[in-house]
Amino acid sequence: MYRTHTCGELRLENNDNTVTLAGWIQRIRNLGGMTFIDLRDRYGITQLVVNEHVSDELKTIVKKLGREFVVQVQGLVVKRQSPNNKILTGEIEIVVEKIKIINASELPPFTIEDESDGGDELRMKYRYLDLRRNPLLKALELRHRLAHETRRYLNSQSFLEIETPYLIKSTPEGARDFIVPSRMNQGQFYALPQSPQTFKQLLMVAGYDRYFQIVRCFRDEDLRADRQPEFTQIDCEMAFVEREDVLQTFEGLAKHLFKNVLDIDFTGQFPRMSYTDAMKYYGCDKPDIRFDMRICELTENVKGKNFVMFDSAEYIGGICAEGCAEYTRKQLDELNEWVKRPQIGAKGLAYIKLGTDGIKSSIDKFYTPDELQAIADKMGARQGDLILVLAGNKKITLGGLCELRLEMGKRLGYRNNTKFAPLWVVDFPLFEYDDETKRFYAMHHPFTSPHVDDLAIFESNPAEVRANAYDFVLNGVEIGGGSIRIHDAQVQKTMFKILGFTDEDAQIQFGFLMNAFKFGAPPHGGIAFGLDRWCAVFGGSDSIRDYIAFPKNNSGRDMMIDSPAAIKQEQLDELGIRLIDNPKA
Ligand code: ASP
Repeated sequence: MYRTHTCGELRLENNDNTVTLAGWIQRIRNLGGMTFIDLRDRYGITQLVVNEHVSDELKTIVKKLGREFVVQVQGLVVKRQSPNNKILTGEIEIVVEKIKIINASELPPFTIEDESDGGDELRMKYRYLDLRRNPLLKALELRHRLAHETRRYLNSQSFLEIETPYLIKSTPEGARDFIVPSRMNQGQFYALPQSPQTFKQLLMVAGYDRYFQIVRCFRDEDLRADRQPEFTQIDCEMAFVEREDVLQTFEGLAKHLFKNVLDIDFTGQFPRMSYTDAMKYYGCDKPDIRFDMRICELTENVKGKNFVMFDSAEYIGGICAEGCAEYTRKQLDELNEWVKRPQIGAKGLAYIKLGTDGIKSSIDKFYTPDELQAIADKMGARQGDLILVLAGNKKITLGGLCELRLEMGKRLGYRNNTKFAPLWVVDFPLFEYDDETKRFYAMHHPFTSPHVDDLAIFESNPAEVRANAYDFVLNGVEIGGGSIRIHDAQVQKTMFKILGFTDEDAQIQFGFLMNAFKFGAPPHGGIAFGLDRWCAVFGGSDSIRDYIAFPKNNSGRDMMIDSPAAIKQEQLDELGIRLIDNPKA
């Protein structure tokens, strides 16, 4: 037996027991003749003491020990003179009788502490060492609990967990596919799924009316901070449902997870907001509603006073930062620079301060105090507040106001990581028009059904059609999205037509689905949640990477196994692939 207990297990009750522990050496301290060793495993840390009177043999072994050595220790549990209440085993220590070095360790390239001295790249390269650190352990434990509780809830709701294939077919919609060459069918390729969307719909046709899967998805997109080329979805689908059934079922899942993972009770319904309102009041489709600070449109209120920036703007809008009237010149200049960064893209920031000594503004030259007060009244601003205004192209300006609102919310401490504000965003547009390619794209995906009230204009006025789609947003992060699907072959055909598919293309790409719809497809709908993101928000982190055991870096590389990598010429030959500029060919 390697161990009688784990390093997180021993308490005062174990006093006087002889125990055997195994683990990694976290730290060694010599104090006088005594040596203190922190022994660590997944479960915690236990302090070991080696007294000055031990045998020479034991002393020799202790001298050889170093950080991250794996050892097995036998000793007596005793009460500590000065307990350490920061660790679970802090009331006891082990007086060492025997130590066996199971495996030595090189000096780790960074410290295995809560705050490590290793940089990102280094820690990614030695991910197995990074994973020994407590914050990562806690993150993976949280992920496990979230996945486990998801299964428990969905199982209790009669969902079946069913696997769908990873080697599927490339489709032109959505993001770019990762492609896998087929050796047995040279010149032909599989694609890795961006989601199991079509398969889960086929399962509905097959009669498995409640499906879920915790499943890896692959998207070959340009990477952003919170994106990974492979990520995990909680993918779900239900038959014989309308939107309300889906929202209720998954609001139930969210509440179950809040309760069982975070011990937070949510009573009452989650708020719902239309896409139109989200864009109008928050400037984006995933509002962080932990705080108010809504955007107020001023386009019609401020034009015609010879201020060119406003007069020439398509859209003018502002936010009111409560209690910020005392912002200094320097702070305002800094905010002005902040909004001009390319990521925000504003031309500049106008402000109105409602100070105790009256109204002060960057646009005094063009507006009388009464006119400024009228703007403040429209925005519901009070004395002590600061109004920040952006103007320009509507899309860019609303996007800028969204970011500015989030930034001010952060500065004012409104975006507390332990506070949670869930939200359903509903009634998205069905299509997005792309000026470059001059065609419509499905905003969600091509299987999303139009809003029942908009069916009449589905073909005649696609730009105005709303989708029967919904997103689940938590603290300004899009955690999930789904829709009621088209289950009628004819409607699906029209959808493909609007998206610019010829009948032949549609048949080649999605014939299997349209054919299936000819054999009795039930009405159905579903949703998929990003597990990694859900974990990150629950854990109060901005980064999903910490919640993935072996993530890729920002350029999509696995630094540890050094992938992607070249493959041997024989492998290429076998696959029938010739690289255009392969130096070895
Ligand atoms: N498959 C969709 C996605 O990955 C989600 C859904 O509609 O269920 O975004």
